[in-house]
Amino acid sequence: MRYCRFNNDRLGVVRDDMVHDVTSVLDKLPAVRWPLPAYDPLVVALPHIRGDMEAAADRVTPVPIATVKLLNPVPNPSKVIGAPVNYHAHIDEANADQQISFGKTIKTIDHYGVFLKSNSSLSGPSEPVPVVEKDRRTDHEVELAAIIGETCFNVPEEGALKYIAGYAIGLDMTIRGPEERSLRKSLDRFSVVGPYVVTADEIPDPENLDLEILVNGQVRQKSNTSHLIFGVAKLISYCSNFYTLYPGDIIMTGTPEGVGPVQAGDVMHAKIEKVGEMTVAVTRRSEPLPPPAPAV
Ligand code: MN
Repeated sequence: MRYCRFNNDRLGVVRDDMVHDVTSVLDKLPAVRWPLPAYDPLVVALPHIRGDMEAAADRVTPVPIATVKLLNPVPNPSKVIGAPVNYHAHIDEANADQQISFGKTIKTIDHYGVFLKSNSSLSGPSEPVPVVEKDRRTDHEVELAAIIGETCFNVPEEGALKYIAGYAIGLDMTIRGPEERSLRKSLDRFSVVGPYVVTADEIPDPENLDLEILVNGQVRQKSNTSHLIFGVAKLISYCSNFYTLYPGDIIMTGTPEGVGPVQAGDVMHAKIEKVGEMTVAVTRRSEPLPPPAPAV
């Protein structure tokens, strides 16, 4: 099954590029009280309400996915994990390009471990990514994003895929520079997730998927997840040795070679085999602030 969040926080089931509004099923989720849980209530409930979502989808008239505003389908993870230099060919290009390496010799993920991106950097495909620093490169990084489905800690690599609820495309947008990754990769809308979540049963082997991104119609990155240094299962095992992973946690698994700058006005088109494709615009940071939290 494929599900999306769209327009004004509607829940959709996606079939053949048509969105079926199944928002009514959200009534089955338990009411959330303060303090908010460290997991995504929809992801937790997914195994139980999937049938209801499919049944609700059967009953409504769908609309083309191209006509809706697509938001990040996993809005409330406890964390967004990034995997640095997790493709060998990306290390080679990083070391060859001073605008990426900034004088450092780039090593592999074994050396760096993983990093965290702020949850407030999450956005969906229909929300343009603002480029902020005029004198710095802001690069696209297309990545397979794995969404954790079950709480887990210290799990072995073998069997680790069973903790995944589903997959999406992730864009780990990045300002190049010497600062910490958590600064350069956590700007508003620098963690694009979409176009929807594809449940894990549809992707038995996430470690053999073609992925690519085009900018203004030109292919920039094109690879396959079989070239990951830490594969998806190893990443889950590795992360779970340090953090408890909660339902809804997003792991961006790393980007292949071909990263490059984007500018306001550019259009990115990302695609992952069996997952889907999405178009994301690049803009200047002139967006108004989101509305304040409602008064009680
Ligand atoms: Mn990345």
